[in-house]
Amino acid sequence: MKDDLKFESIFLEILADLYDAEKQIIEALPKLIAEADSELLAGALQLHLDETKEQVVRLETIFERIGEQPGSGRSEAMLGLISEGEKSLGKFRKSPALDIALIASAQKVEHYELAAYGSACRLAEMLGQEDALELLQDTLEEERTADENLAEVAEGILTGDDAAAEDSGEEE
Ligand code: FE
Ligand code: ZN
Ligand code: FE
Repeated sequence: MKDDLKFESIFLEILADLYDAEKQIIEALPKLIAEADSELLAGALQLHLDETKEQVVRLETIFERIGEQPGSGRSEAMLGLISEGEKSLGKFRKSPALDIALIASAQKVEHYELAAYGSACRLAEMLGQEDALELLQDTLEEERTADENLAEVAEGILTGDDAAAEDSGEEE
């Protein structure tokens, strides 16, 4: 029982961090979309921006159901990841190099989210939070797909096979 309470507070801490992280991502993505050289990359980022807005709503739904507040804490980790990514914007102008740098940064963000949502899912399951688990799994799946799409766009740029990447992107 005592441990259960601790597990729940860890669960809430992870969710609160993600709640702020997602909001930071929503603020940062439009800038990256505008700067991206590849239309494929801009499209992948735009799709994920739309998903991210829904992810924030999912987290709000979870907090509401648990009867807790997300609080106003900053995700310092996301702050760092995003500011590192934004440095690339100053270093490269619209170019394939910029796109590769943007994708490298964006994939770090996705992997952070994958780790955090993975832990959150495990805790939701352990705590018997079935509704939360379902919502968190939906988001986890979107993060995974976003990560895979970014890797595919990078591969297309690096192999000079942007059109091929576009084709396979449309099939899915
Ligand atoms: Fe996300
Ligand atoms: Zn999957
Ligand atoms: Fe994401």
